[in-house]
Amino acid sequence: MSCLKNNRILIFLFFLIASFYLNGCSKSNESNNYVEKESFQMGTIISQKIYGSNAESSANKIIKRLNSIEENMSLNINTSTLSWINTNSGESQVFHVNDDIYNVLSAAKHFSELSQGAFDITVGPLVKEWGVFTDDPHVPTQSRINELLKLVNYKSIEFDPEKKTFRLPIKGQMIDFGAIAKGYAADEAVKICRKDGIKSAYINLGGNVYVVGNKPDNTPWKIGIQNPRAADGKYIGILRISDKTVVTSGDYERFFVKNGVRYHHIIDPRTGWPSNSDLISSTIVTDSSISADALSTATFVMGLNKSKELLKKLHGVDAIFITKDKKVYITENLRRYFDFQDESGEFTYVEKG
Ligand code: AMP
Ligand code: MG
Repeated sequence: MSCLKNNRILIFLFFLIASFYLNGCSKSNESNNYVEKESFQMGTIISQKIYGSNAESSANKIIKRLNSIEENMSLNINTSTLSWINTNSGESQVFHVNDDIYNVLSAAKHFSELSQGAFDITVGPLVKEWGVFTDDPHVPTQSRINELLKLVNYKSIEFDPEKKTFRLPIKGQMIDFGAIAKGYAADEAVKICRKDGIKSAYINLGGNVYVVGNKPDNTPWKIGIQNPRAADGKYIGILRISDKTVVTSGDYERFFVKNGVRYHHIIDPRTGWPSNSDLISSTIVTDSSISADALSTATFVMGLNKSKELLKKLHGVDAIFITKDKKVYITENLRRYFDFQDESGEFTYVEKG
């Protein structure tokens, strides 16, 4: 009897988890025309709050779209297009890529050039070696790092944008879209909202946020910028924004500590070690989430001064940079939308400069 009951509980849990995976966990209100959904996709929690008469159907379309992006770009799925491309590195055969891979590859190439290699999707073998995401993270030997660095160079990717063909020429090369895929996915999610006439939405792909329009009460959305040294996820300030994406890269997101040293998940492609610039957090605010995702990673590696120079060349891209010496820098256009609220009292807000 109790065994039967246990089986029933297990079957119930199985369907609950399967339904969460396929449809997300959802809360909706027909009369107010809104839906709140959470799903686990692309290795993270995806939260959506969508307001409008098509809210439920838009949210489901987004979940479906993210699934197809994940099936293309995940390194954790052996059958993904990207895994297949990586497995075939060093082969003479040239591959035709689908639109999603093509779009992300083109953007990645652009941001690698713009950042002079601080952003580099061929960093995959080093990310794997450090194993920050695994149960066995470790500090590799310098000779192992040197060996793997030979595989890292975005310029070596043979990519023909006209023919949409692609090849990784060196055996063992591995592309990792971890610094850009969620941004691409957020843009695709927002495209669905816009096509469906949604005027107000909040979409959060594991911290990669896009807000459509204002909140339903017509005030801007409020997005917290995390205190990079608070273990409990406290904020150092709040951004008030509409129709923008906010993406942060930080050394607190994924890391392990060995002999008192923090080793995080963002690799400097020039050294093969976790990036050691003067930044501990870099937030980009702009219209395109793929740009924000790539630029937050790139600027984090580049450090404060080079990043400020880079942003001067870009139109409509703002940032909040937090340095190791706990100073918070913000680009001029963003200042009036940012409320510095540091409960810890440890950070200094540098309003000018
Ligand atoms: P993000 O959190 O967006 O900054 O992306 C970090 C993830 O991108 C890491 O977990 C790696 O998978 C990958 N990655 C690490 N370093 C780099 C880099 N310098 N350029 C591009 N991708 C990187
Ligand atoms: Mg990124």
